[in-house]
Amino acid sequence: MKITRVKSHILQYELDRELGYSQQFYSRRSAHLVEVQTDEGLTGWGECFGPGNVAIANRTIVEEVIQPMILGCDPVDRDAIWHNVYNLLRDHGQKGMPIQALSGVDIALWDLTGKIAGLPLCKLAGGRHRDRVPVYGYGMMLGREDIDAHVSRFRDEAAGIKEAGFVATKMKVGLGHRNDIRLIEAVRSGIGEEFPFMVDANHCYTVADAFYVGQALDEMNAYWFEEPVAPEDLDGYGELRTRLKTNISGGEAEFTRWGWRHLLEGRCLDIAQPEVCALGGISEYLKVLALAHTHFTPVVNHVWGSAVAVAANLHLLAAMPPVPGGLNPREPMLEFDTTDNLFRDDLLVEPMDIPAQVRRSGGYASVPEGPGLGVEPDPGFIERYSVT
Ligand SMILES: [Mg+2]
Repeated sequence: MKITRVKSHILQYELDRELGYSQQFYSRRSAHLVEVQTDEGLTGWGECFGPGNVAIANRTIVEEVIQPMILGCDPVDRDAIWHNVYNLLRDHGQKGMPIQALSGVDIALWDLTGKIAGLPLCKLAGGRHRDRVPVYGYGMMLGREDIDAHVSRFRDEAAGIKEAGFVATKMKVGLGHRNDIRLIEAVRSGIGEEFPFMVDANHCYTVADAFYVGQALDEMNAYWFEEPVAPEDLDGYGELRTRLKTNISGGEAEFTRWGWRHLLEGRCLDIAQPEVCALGGISEYLKVLALAHTHFTPVVNHVWGSAVAVAANLHLLAAMPPVPGGLNPREPMLEFDTTDNLFRDDLLVEPMDIPAQVRRSGGYASVPEGPGLGVEPDPGFIERYSVT
């Protein structure tokens, strides 16, 4: 079988409500799907991390840079293809957009390989360690309202996510370290004393401010403190990890095994959050996972994007061995964005409807059946939301 075409589909729509995190507000939802076609009619799907204009630029890398390198290759040869492409891109970017672009192509090759073999991705990745995956719901995005309005909205939203059946919740911060503590208190009061919650700073703090907020998280028994400082500040990560009781997590902005090596060898993280649609795709994710587990660092995947990304992550989470193992190991969780996202809810011919699964099962999602990712995007839907 030969690869005959590599095509990017950029989907966009205007959100009813603007969403914010510590770095920016956005009012347009986007997704970047990659379709790899073959001479035998089989098609594989992948997704690249990177919203808005980043997706537009990544499309050029996918179609104009990577496509010519892999036309005519056998899609099953995904590790060979990965290294050929990486070796040619290396001089032009070992992190960031070239690797995001390669990620979507690689995921599509794994989808194709599964379809050719008649095996679901979780089997190709080594087999299931669990049949269903616990799901945490994130929400509590920043808005432009004042702090008092934020406080009451965060309290209500957190209570709603708990009520919806998710096993834990995650909030954003970024209104300044003092206001952020009010937001964190609001979420704790909305969910009660026992329900697990996590806090995502999207690297907006200095180490001093992160320590200030982290002490409050220690008191409120938060599960993890995500991207407290800039991803380049590995020493800052290490200091916080030593000084705080709360788990320090991060890694969504790190790429390839060579980038992850420094985070892990530096003992910077209690919980690693690799993003498969950014760090190099499934081929590279499996190497990063092995490296994390080599350092006995638990992994909870970062998940963002459309139903294609969610499906890929469900397979990878099902196939993830427990670390360090035991009768009652801590389970990895699926990150699920509870905010408005048509590309997650309505993209597929047969939607996964994870909120309904969570409601019915008390917090779990099942792994899609069928070969490859086990999901098929609806061509009519793609056409409706595609931008050229
Ligand atoms: Mg994050």
